Amino acid sequence: MRIGFIGLGNMGGGMAANLVKAGHDVAAFDLSADALARAAAAGCTSAASAAAAVDGAAAVVTMLPAGNHVAAVYGDAVFAAAAAGTLLLDCSTIDVATAKAVGTDAAARGLAMVDAPVSGGIAAANAGTLTFMVGGTAAAFARAQPILGAMGKAVIHAGAAGAGQAAKICNNMLLGASMVATAEAFVLAQKLGLDAQTFFDISSQASGQCWSMTSYCPVPGPVPSAPSNRDYEGGFAAALMLKDLKLAVEAAHSVDASVPMGAQAEELYASFAAHGGAAKDFSAVIKLLDGSWRAD
Ligand code: NAD
Repeated sequence: MRIGFIGLGNMGGGMAANLVKAGHDVAAFDLSADALARAAAAGCTSAASAAAAVDGAAAVVTMLPAGNHVAAVYGDAVFAAAAAGTLLLDCSTIDVATAKAVGTDAAARGLAMVDAPVSGGIAAANAGTLTFMVGGTAAAFARAQPILGAMGKAVIHAGAAGAGQAAKICNNMLLGASMVATAEAFVLAQKLGLDAQTFFDISSQASGQCWSMTSYCPVPGPVPSAPSNRDYEGGFAAALMLKDLKLAVEAAHSVDASVPMGAQAEELYASFAAHGGAAKDFSAVIKLLDGSWRAD
């Protein structure tokens, strides 16, 4: 299938390469010449513009930074260049309001569209093991499934347009708040004289157990693969967690939902990012809580 791919950054580059590996003919466009060169090296065809990538494509995938980029790329190029029947898939993490608005515009033009944000980082994008949470009609989901399946290990229908973004930000708000809670529990445990490994051995088998503890444990040692063992390098950057928490709190305001834990987590990550922690894995927030954080 001929697929247009717009946005070949950290995530999109690996995703487009996996579409090529699955046998698709991928026409790629990015504002960055470097990103485009890497996509070409992975077997994509370089397009001279977003419209050129969309021209003649049966499906278009976008993987862009934020809602304003998505609104602009669809409004300025994709909608005008897409032939009737083209399937549009936006995999970026963006605000629910923009996802719904772009989905409504697509429907008004007779184009099928899904919002399909991902869980999993750059390694999962490269390995083709992302999880996609998809918003859109059942018919659009059925068409999107095999394309997304070539880039991921799980493709889940979350509901109508915007539901994929809603699932993504709710999940990441829970993750952000649970990481902060896990980190403060380790700080308190140590101050109360409990060894970190001992606390882990107990809590990871007790009711405090959660992903932030057992997969990304914020103290080095108990989980050898966790970023805390690599000076909090790699993993999921605090800046990206902050972005998702902002989207969640903004969405909560728009529907009058009370999210005090999410809002508190947003404040803590904003403070951590402002103090030089933006590029560190989000589990490094423990250093803000125990007072040991010093920006390099
Ligand atoms: P990135 O900044 O590395 O890549 C975005 C790319 O979009 C860049 O190459 C940029 O040049 C390109 N771009 C921007 N505006 C454009 C335009 N108008 N036309 C064409 N190209 C344009 O970002 P990323 O890390 O790949 O993240 C992409 C999306 O995936 C974001 O919404 C992010 O929140 C989400 N996400 C990222 C991760 C992660 O671990 N990096 C994990 C899950 C979800």
